[in-house]
Amino acid sequence: MWESLSLKDVVALARDPYPSIRKWARDTGKKVVGSTIADVPEEVIYAFDLLPVTILGTHKPLKKAPSHLPDNACSLARSNLELALSYEGDLFSGFVLPQVCDTTQHLSDIWRINFPDKYVESYLAPRQADRPSARYWVKEEIERLIESLGKWLGKKPGNDALNASIAVHNENRALLGELYKIKRESPGTITNKEFFAMMKLSLQADKAEINKSLKTIKDSLKAKKGKKFTDVILVGITCDPPEIFDILDELKLNIVGDTLVDGTRYLQGMVSVNGNPIDALADRHFKRGFFSPIHDNVYKNFEEVKKLYNDTKAKAVIFVHIEFCESQEYDLPDLKNMIKKEGIPIHVLDTEYQTTSLSHVLTRAQAFFESLKGGSL
Ligand code: SF4
Repeated sequence: MWESLSLKDVVALARDPYPSIRKWARDTGKKVVGSTIADVPEEVIYAFDLLPVTILGTHKPLKKAPSHLPDNACSLARSNLELALSYEGDLFSGFVLPQVCDTTQHLSDIWRINFPDKYVESYLAPRQADRPSARYWVKEEIERLIESLGKWLGKKPGNDALNASIAVHNENRALLGELYKIKRESPGTITNKEFFAMMKLSLQADKAEINKSLKTIKDSLKAKKGKKFTDVILVGITCDPPEIFDILDELKLNIVGDTLVDGTRYLQGMVSVNGNPIDALADRHFKRGFFSPIHDNVYKNFEEVKKLYNDTKAKAVIFVHIEFCESQEYDLPDLKNMIKKEGIPIHVLDTEYQTTSLSHVLTRAQAFFESLKGGSL
């Protein structure tokens, strides 16, 4: 289904992957398990011969979610719930839902109540990752997830199957990392939209299949430097709708680094396949960057952004703010102050799932980058 895609196919499928996931499920007879961001060890789900799909909202209208969640719940949580309640719920045999913030904590019960016939499990990564007990906790959570999936399916993968799954995921991360390097150094080769479509579809398709497409795409690329690009870094949790990338492409901004959960945070931490896979997966959890709701050190966010900005020699930071994301709204004022004090230009781009017009995003971004000309650009 996903093994011989062109870059154009990837962009189209990333916008709406669900018809292809349905076809894959029909053709293979395998089950699909959805999870929301972040940090569910999808390697474990894959090792059970299931398809792990990261649910990243829907662009279709909200019909049922508003009756379950208040208007000031984050738009990603509302959009994810709508996708499951109104549009694609029947596709999923089950869900593994991480609790990363207060919204997702309440949400997992709402999903459980609304899908009584499906497998629904929580995944609880420690919020205070700096504590010595955090590593023990992550390992216990991974083992609990394996036990729970095993009880549901009546079988459990051994270490060989877990390591084989990890190897497929490592290959996916390595390929995407190489493609990112090409894009970073030669922005005329791959657009922002194309690159982040490859990232997104990788989180939703069978990785063994999409790895074949990514390899062919990578081998067929002819590096083009392109002219007059401005390097920027993208900071946030996720960036949607994909048309935002069109705007960044139109403004000739080259994303050379990011902190997105469906971006670099997915690429961080290759997992060893030579030892105990559960230990190795737990290790990976601590090799990844800051994710607001999980870590306790409020300065870590700033330090990571500053380092990324300096390492990539970017000209500005674009912070993608998801409307009503409580975690971002908690972090953003301090982060903005610290970044400004450091003399780093920052532009906050407000997004909302189900948005129909992005003209304000274009106008504000245009104004921001115009104002930088003659300055740091
Ligand atoms: S972290 Fe933010 S975007 Fe994610 S579910 Fe919580 S409130 Fe929504």
